[in-house]
Amino acid sequence: MKEIIQYFSDVFHAVKSLLTGMRVTGYYFFHHKEIVTQEYPENRATLKMFERFKGEVLMPHTESNEHKCTGCGICEMNCPNGSIEILTTFETVDGKKKKIIDKHIYHLSMCTFCGLCVKTCPSDALAFGNDFEHAVFDRQSLTKVLNKPGSTLNKEVKE
Ligand code: SF4
Ligand code: SF4
Repeated sequence: MKEIIQYFSDVFHAVKSLLTGMRVTGYYFFHHKEIVTQEYPENRATLKMFERFKGEVLMPHTESNEHKCTGCGICEMNCPNGSIEILTTFETVDGKKKKIIDKHIYHLSMCTFCGLCVKTCPSDALAFGNDFEHAVFDRQSLTKVLNKPGSTLNKEVKE
């Protein structure tokens, strides 16, 4: 008798579990107009990624071509994959030599999008962009210089 009760109990729980799992499927079967599956790449023109999506590391510049990177090298030290190389140079200001960024090199092909560089930059010079289409024929094009040509350090950044 005990075995029979256990048998029907198992069957009941199996059916309950199946119906629970099929609830969402069943809902969309009868409400197919609410289906939000998007057809990529046909929807490329209108496709928007989530705001927090990490597509690539960027260095935002102002309209007057200023960035916030001081060339301190903290992002390079913190990157676990060696995806960042900081090349610095010197400029003379009021007769004194001052270190400035020459090239902030970012190897997208080695980046795991961990976010450490963005989080630890003391001058908030880096951000994540939403672009996710990074397929290329030449992997060298995945190496980018983030500071734009002719750009300068934003005067408000404390060094
Ligand atoms: S991006 Fe930030 S952490 Fe990296 S070198 Fe520039 S200022 Fe320093
Ligand atoms: S997101 Fe992570 S892996 Fe990518 S460059 Fe920054 S620290 Fe390196």
